[in-house]
Amino acid sequence: MSSLGYKGIWVFAEQRDGEIRNVSLELLGKGRELADELKTELTAILVGEGIGDASKELLYYGADKVIVADHPMLNLYVTEPYTKVMCEAIKLYNPEIILIGATAIGRDLAPRISARIHTGLTADCTSLEIEEETKNLLMTRPAFGGNIMATIICPEHRPQMSTVRPGVMVKRTRDEGRNGEIIELKPALNEDDMNVEIIEVVKESKKKVKIEEANVLVSGGRGLGKKESFEPLEKLAKELGGLVSGSRAVVDAGWIEREYQVGQTGKTVRPDLYIACGISGAIQHVTGMEESELIIAINKNADAPIFELADVGIVGDVNKVIPALIDALKNSK
Ligand code: FAD
Repeated sequence: MSSLGYKGIWVFAEQRDGEIRNVSLELLGKGRELADELKTELTAILVGEGIGDASKELLYYGADKVIVADHPMLNLYVTEPYTKVMCEAIKLYNPEIILIGATAIGRDLAPRISARIHTGLTADCTSLEIEEETKNLLMTRPAFGGNIMATIICPEHRPQMSTVRPGVMVKRTRDEGRNGEIIELKPALNEDDMNVEIIEVVKESKKKVKIEEANVLVSGGRGLGKKESFEPLEKLAKELGGLVSGSRAVVDAGWIEREYQVGQTGKTVRPDLYIACGISGAIQHVTGMEESELIIAINKNADAPIFELADVGIVGDVNKVIPALIDALKNSK
């Protein structure tokens, strides 16, 4: 199948209670770049009930157009009606590329859409580019346990679909001066499309830690030696107005909870400052933090791979270096 007749880039604008998820804004940033390169339009598709107010935000973050599918049956995310609405919109407008956040909703929705419209899907991409000659989307993601980066194309089918994890792409600066077209789509849904009955919605009461949104991360690895050694890291993070995070080794050891894990099977982070404390720098860890603005590594082994990536390297015992850093910060105030 050629891309003839398929035009434009779409971003699925995921919302909860009318509030657009950060990952969708990040995807608009990337989508804008790709659309400019392909000289095409960037469209956000917003699905829900009473969500029209959020359309402007999507324009401010880079969309040229917003398609709003508003219907009472779309109030809460349910696989079947959302999939149906998305597939019908895709058949109507024939986009060339669709980008979806690799969130719980995105990971449920994207494969169902791709199967129903008979196209390919590359999940958990870390980089998206346009191939100069063919204009195909080059979708790159870690493969084989993170040991290689695989670049995948979908040359035979359209649209080309990709999910991207939160924190990987960079959102643009919000620009209230941007305008665009808002298209209202009337979803043709009936009761047969609702194959699930929602009895109750229970909101998680525990406040979620969002390491992917922190500007500073003080991250601990197996080199800390024991769970209690996270306490000085917490202190340092507090001094710097950040959060702690860690490698998979410390999560597996039960020293911190899984939501703090950085890396391929954890979260992708991009803070202004990442301090890696007693972390060796395994590829599966590095994949999740290599885009950090400034990386400081503390490791007692001068040959640790993390030093190849670090902007500043401190060779020493983390349990001595961290208290010294805290003292130095306190004294400088
Ligand atoms: P280690 O590799 O054991 O490194 C400890 C480091 O601490 C060493 O460099 C050592 O020199 C240093 N050290 C020791 N004592 C001190 C001291 N007193 N002071 C200073 N330095 C000291 N890992 C992740 O982190 N995130 C992931 O998402 C992830 N996903 C994975 C997915 C797959 C499919 C696989 C196979 C692996 C994955 N891993 C992941 C695991 C990864 O391969 C590494 O095993 C892990 O990152 C190692 O954690 P670490 O650096 O804390 O420990």
